[in-house]
Amino acid sequence: MPAIRPLPPGVVNRIAAGEVIERPASAVKELVENAIDAGATRIGIEVVAGGRALIAVTDDGIGMTPDQLPLAIERHATSKLDDDELIRITSLGFRGEALAALAGISRLRLTSRPRGQDSAFALAVEAGRAKAPVPAAGGFGTRVEVRDLFFATPARLKFLKSDRAEQLAVREAVERLAMACPGIAFTLHADGRRVLALDVAAADPFEQTRARLRQIMGQRFAEDAAALEAARDGVRLSGMIGLPAASHPSARFQHVFVNRRPVQDRLLKGALRAAYGDLLPRERQPMVALFLELAPEEVDVNVHPTKAEVRFRRPNAVRSLVIGAIRERLVAAGARPSITLSEAALAAFRPGGGSPSPLPAGLAETAAAYHAPLGTDRLDLGPPAARVEAAAPDDGALERYPLGAARTQLHDSYIVAQSEDGLVLVDQHAAHERLVYERMKADLAAGGVPRQGLLLPEVVELDPAHVELVLRRRDELARLGLSVEAFGEGAVLVREVPALLGNPDVPALIRDLAEDLAEIDQTRRLVEALERVCATLACHGSVRAGRRLSLAEMNALLRQMEATPNSGQCNHGRPTYVTLSRADIERLFARR
Ligand code: ADP
Ligand code: MG
Repeated sequence: MPAIRPLPPGVVNRIAAGEVIERPASAVKELVENAIDAGATRIGIEVVAGGRALIAVTDDGIGMTPDQLPLAIERHATSKLDDDELIRITSLGFRGEALAALAGISRLRLTSRPRGQDSAFALAVEAGRAKAPVPAAGGFGTRVEVRDLFFATPARLKFLKSDRAEQLAVREAVERLAMACPGIAFTLHADGRRVLALDVAAADPFEQTRARLRQIMGQRFAEDAAALEAARDGVRLSGMIGLPAASHPSARFQHVFVNRRPVQDRLLKGALRAAYGDLLPRERQPMVALFLELAPEEVDVNVHPTKAEVRFRRPNAVRSLVIGAIRERLVAAGARPSITLSEAALAAFRPGGGSPSPLPAGLAETAAAYHAPLGTDRLDLGPPAARVEAAAPDDGALERYPLGAARTQLHDSYIVAQSEDGLVLVDQHAAHERLVYERMKADLAAGGVPRQGLLLPEVVELDPAHVELVLRRRDELARLGLSVEAFGEGAVLVREVPALLGNPDVPALIRDLAEDLAEIDQTRRLVEALERVCATLACHGSVRAGRRLSLAEMNALLRQMEATPNSGQCNHGRPTYVTLSRADIERLFARR
């Protein structure tokens, strides 16, 4: 039987590192957390080659004396825990394993100088072996340098993504911590270039938070968000919540903090989803930055290796506070849930499936005036008034179309039409998304999507990593009707957009698209992810939810739907329109 032996310390540290340090961004997170715990007011982060070659974090915090330096890299050695029951943890770190883990898998150098000490001292470690601290140059505070991360664990190296992607992850990790600490100034340099500079905007903590969120989440978010402030049973919730109009295709802009610690907590994500509920389409995600504060003994932060998840002592109280406060704030801000109907009415509505039934005889010609056959004309929702009038000799005729004659619009999102047999309710955004998708498929099959030149080419500023993603897909995007060119470091130039989008918000479109590209597997062709791309394009097309349409535009949309295969369902399989027959209406009112 093989002998049982304790593992050598080097191996123990490498195993522990596997849990805590997954990629350069996790090393950055640990080092920045240490700087925050040390009371820093300025923190500088540098990475080279996405953090693979070098990560350096410099702070102006309390520092360490020369005799503390060797202890700092020892496993399970910490200055932060004076509560051995782990009940009241107020610092970000407490396990004393990050520096030990980093020392085990990289070439580490600590330089530190506490206030009142004449000189800094530096300690170098290589693969877990430390040399004696020596005097070194350095200001007050601490600088930690991590070189050649994972050189001692090559298996982990293989799992890293491109330098760009790792750099983006580093930036996101810094941004998350910076949001929670608006009283600390942060800079991030990547390969010698400054990519982030977050200063301390104001003296007032509330203003600091607001300004920091604006810097990180963007001006648009700041404008489309509502400030939130609520407290109940010793739990305090504050922050900014995006109005439904400022939603995003990914959950990337959902930031939740528990006692200023960034968390990816399932309970909280679920509460968020529930709070927005039917105010958002299922494929859109709310943008929020929420800070939850509660007594340290109310939350266990020691349940996850990277502390990304926490456990609440009273999860239901937290959940109901989050849901209740967000709901209330959204309603106060004017966001309204989509129309709710009684169960009976819901059951009576019939979802449109496949395509609306064929045009009745005699209407085919008038229909042609609204739209040319699929694939040859663009989706034009503003037909010249004369054309519409000529095509619509009287309303009575319009009612004979399967989707009827548009009568009005509800909530700037739903078209109400009257057909011969009853009532048709169309989700204009879902319908348009489907039309864009079907049209693009047909256009691609015919050789490419027709484009429309922009009067003025638009310069869109993007994160450099996103610039690269977009440019790499340049040829594929061109086939989808979007012509994009390089434009310096952090921007692209857009010359043409798909004609069927009408007059889109180009910068928003490109930014959302870049977000999609980051999530679409790099080896997949874009056409294979066409539904996703079309959903994003359609979101920025002329018929998004919340856009008021004229009667002519509404009728044009209905006629386009009648001429398009599968238009009865949106790309996600939900109906794009529902019908209620006259008989059902009568039944609802107990007339039958
Ligand atoms: P933890 O943060 O859980 O205590 P670490 O391994 O990250 O564990 O750090 C070990 C110790 O080294 C800390 O408890 C702290 O005393 C010291 N230390 C690490 N980084 C810094 C820093 N930037 N400034 C001052 N002290 C630090
Ligand atoms: Mg730490």
